[in-house]
Amino acid sequence: MSPTVRFSKNAANVFFHILTQCNLKCRHCYINPEQHGRQTLSLDTIRSWLETLARRAPMADLIFLGGEPTLHPELAEAIHAARRLGYRSITIDTNGYLFHDILDRITPEAVNFISFSLDGASPATNDPIRGKGSFKACTAGIRKAIQKGFPTSLIYTVSSLNLHELSSVPPLLGQLKINRFFIQVIGLRGQSATCAERPVENLQVTRDQWQSHVLPVARQVADQGIRVTYPKVFLEPDEPFECAGRVADNYFIFPNGRVYRCPLCEDFPLHSLAFENDRLIDMDPINEADLFKLDIPEGCVMNKLIQPHNITYLPDGSPANKIACCLLKEELV
Ligand code: SF4
Ligand code: SF4
Repeated sequence: MSPTVRFSKNAANVFFHILTQCNLKCRHCYINPEQHGRQTLSLDTIRSWLETLARRAPMADLIFLGGEPTLHPELAEAIHAARRLGYRSITIDTNGYLFHDILDRITPEAVNFISFSLDGASPATNDPIRGKGSFKACTAGIRKAIQKGFPTSLIYTVSSLNLHELSSVPPLLGQLKINRFFIQVIGLRGQSATCAERPVENLQVTRDQWQSHVLPVARQVADQGIRVTYPKVFLEPDEPFECAGRVADNYFIFPNGRVYRCPLCEDFPLHSLAFENDRLIDMDPINEADLFKLDIPEGCVMNKLIQPHNITYLPDGSPANKIACCLLKEELV
C-alpha cells in the first residue's frame, strides 16, 4: 500500500532560492532568470526574509535552493540563522559540487538532509542531461557527505531521456547508502519549456510509462528500507482533488522578491506575495490566488492552462482522469 501524503494545514514549507546562478545547465532546469531574478541575496536579506517567514509560518520545513545554493559564500551562516529561528527542518538541495567547502563549515546536526540531484544511474545517461562530469562530481559529493555523517537524499527527475535507467537506481542507492529517494516528474517550466531542440512534451512520460516503470521501482527501493516519495500525478476517479494553493502553506521565494504559492505559476508574473524593501506584501489581483479558487473537471487549473496535452478526454468530452496538484506526493516507507 502507498499512503498518499495529504496536504496538512499544520505543515508549512519554505522553498528559498537564495540565488539563481549555477555552474550547470541542466536540460530541464526550471530556473527562469527573467522571472526569478539574477541577483545573489545578501546574508542580511536572507536573515530578514527568514525571520518574516518564521513569524508567518512557525516551524516550517525549509529548503535552500538555487541555482546552486552552495555557490553562495554565506550559505553556512544562513543555515545557522535558520536554526536559531526555529525552522522544523533544514534541507540543502544541491547538484553535488558542494562549493565553498560547505561540508566543512556545517555539522551534520545543522541540517536534516543534503539532497543531491542525479538524472541517471550512469554518466552515459546523466551527463547529457546535467552536464559533462556531473555524475562523477555528484556521486563524489554524496560519498563525502555520507562519510562525514550527513543524512542524504537523492532526487531523480524522470523524463523520456532517463526512464530506461530508473530500474538501475535501486542498486546505486544501496551502494551509495542514500537515506531517502525522491522521484520527480519533468515539468513544463523554465529552461525545459524553451528547449527548441527537443520540445519538453516529448520528454514527458505517459501515464502507462509512469505506472509500468516508476511505481515498481518505487516499491523496490522501499523494499530496500529506503523511504521513497513521488508525485501522485493522476487521481483515481474516487480520489478527491485538492489545490495546495487553497489548503496548504507553501512559499516559493526567489531572489527578485517574488513569492509564489504554486510552482506551476513560477514562469509568469502571477505571484501572490512579494518582498518589497524587506516587507512581505500581498499582490493585487489578478494573481495565482485567483486561479486557485476555480473548480474545473480537469483538476489542476494551472496544468490545464500550461500543459493541456497532459489531459486525455473521453468521447463524451469529460476528462479521463483528474490531474493532481503537482505538490501532492505519495510516500512508501
Ligand atoms: S537544475 Fe539545478 S543544477 Fe541544474 S542547472 Fe538548474 S539550478 Fe543548476
Ligand atoms: S499545481 Fe495546480 S493544484 Fe497545485 S497549487 Fe498549483 S494550481 Fe493549485
